[in-house]
Amino acid sequence: FFIALEGGDGAGKSTQVEALAEWIRSKGHEVVVTREPGATAIGKRLRAIILDVSTSGLSDRAEALMFAADRAEHVDSVIRPALERGAIVITDRYIDSSVAYQGAGRNLAPTEIARISRWATDGLIPHLTVLLDVSPETARERFTEAPDRMESEPAEFHERVRAGFLALAAADPARYLVVDAGQEPEAVTIAVRHRLDQVLPL
Ligand code: C5P
Repeated sequence: FFIALEGGDGAGKSTQVEALAEWIRSKGHEVVVTREPGATAIGKRLRAIILDVSTSGLSDRAEALMFAADRAEHVDSVIRPALERGAIVITDRYIDSSVAYQGAGRNLAPTEIARISRWATDGLIPHLTVLLDVSPETARERFTEAPDRMESEPAEFHERVRAGFLALAAADPARYLVVDAGQEPEAVTIAVRHRLDQVLPL
């Protein structure tokens, strides 16, 4: 079973990924927690290039292809092997982040970005995608570290990203759970657990 957590910066994805993994493990399942970009050795190098604030002038298409390259490596070396041995995989970001950031955010055609990712992943789609939806203003208040290159983008960029995520969820409601991530983290965890209880053989 393959679960993706998606959402803007500061939506609380990493907190929720940990809480869910712990809960699923407590039921006796193997859980593999992973993330994008940067889950593999090659991915870490790509992440450093893409997110470094000194990487100015990176072309939008090159950026999109680097995220896709990171994802291809991630699927091949981490996600597919884990799924094949029966583990439950939870990834912090996946294809939707590319469609939202590089598609909606950078104004590249979202359908093209989705197509590149479909090729990069050989068509591996999560069984459930949890979208943690939060306004960019609320999210910004949660930043604890210096903003990376994407986080340094203006508010309009992050509004487009948010709308991009919501459009993906609206287009395929059966495969998505949209949670208001402006709530307390505990309330978010309960909402996600509730849905997982229905779809996972826990
Ligand atoms: O979630 P995390 O902070 O690790 O993501 C790293 C950065 O990469 C974030 O600032 C996020 O906005 C950006 N990102 C992106 N496009 C993706 C994935 C992540 O712009 N496809």
